[in-house]
Amino acid sequence: MTPSSAPTLAKIGEFGLISRISTCVPSYENVITGIGDDASVTALSPGMQLLTSTDMLLEDVHFRRSWHDPLLLGRKSLAVSISDIAAMGGIPRWALLSLALPPALPLAFIDDFVRGFLAMATEHRVALIGGDTCSSRSGLAISVTIMGEQSPSRILRRSGAKPDDDIWVTGTLGDAALALNMLEKGETVSEDLLHRLLDPSPRVSAALALTEACLATAMIDVSDGVLADYGHIADLSSVGGCLNLADLPLSPAFRKHMSADSATVCRMALCGGEDYELCFTARPAMREKVAECMKKCGIAVTRIGIVTSSPEVTVVNPDGTPFNSQAEGFNHFT
Ligand code: ADP
Ligand code: MG
Repeated sequence: MTPSSAPTLAKIGEFGLISRISTCVPSYENVITGIGDDASVTALSPGMQLLTSTDMLLEDVHFRRSWHDPLLLGRKSLAVSISDIAAMGGIPRWALLSLALPPALPLAFIDDFVRGFLAMATEHRVALIGGDTCSSRSGLAISVTIMGEQSPSRILRRSGAKPDDDIWVTGTLGDAALALNMLEKGETVSEDLLHRLLDPSPRVSAALALTEACLATAMIDVSDGVLADYGHIADLSSVGGCLNLADLPLSPAFRKHMSADSATVCRMALCGGEDYELCFTARPAMREKVAECMKKCGIAVTRIGIVTSSPEVTVVNPDGTPFNSQAEGFNHFT
């Protein structure tokens, strides 16, 4: 079939699409009424509080259809929301998916997107319980609302960091930013770097292990670069911080492509976006326990700095001199 004669969304319409989605959704014990009614009905576990977060993904702002395979786009649309629940120490449970779709969008695209979304949902036992569907006159717009739960004493906020706490980060930084930078320049990107940009893994098990062991004092997921995101912890905790450039965890793929000079590392690993790693703070007395806990989860963890009582967040070069960084994470309006 030629692309021009391939079936499009216009053929099945809004309700055709909704029933196409709902037939692929498994049933879950904590969903009493799912897709189909005016509102869904869910059961919170006893003693738990509800965590809710919403995110928009817009074509040509957050993704390009030419770079993002629809299946991976579906996975990522939910992954970034699951990452927000993980960052609170929450257990992700329920999701709403709202779509604004160009009528000429091929059905195969939306089928793959939904398949990817539901695969990510199944991997994290998240139930798709509803959403909204409408047509778009320009690009594709995706909005995901996620809900999770956690007992009040286990919820981790950005506001709990204390002076002298260690600043930790999981995994490696800068891979997604480097991949995006290379795509924008039309360069060939290796599979491992591309994977970090197109198919991020939310660090749910690591986050739950940290909160269950009462190890972290504050936590955030790294979506706008660790400098900007640790900055949010600092602001809300009324503290500052000192980050060591030499200690930023860089992947072998990142090291292969970049000369590890301060400016490059800063641009990609400190200020680049979309790592979806966890940045958290913990008391220095917990160092060994943090390392042990993350080892059990199979997640790398690195100490990248220290919380200070003075309010500035500073960055130190490998040679010990201060790095003069005016740079910030990705900001939508500049
Ligand atoms: P209403 O007109 O009352 O808003 P809709 O026709 O928009 O109802 O939706 C009907 C049902 O389908 C609702 O349960 C809604 O949550 C669900 N739904 C609509 N769009 C989606 C979607 N993209 N993904 C999952 N569920 C959806
Ligand atoms: Mg509706």
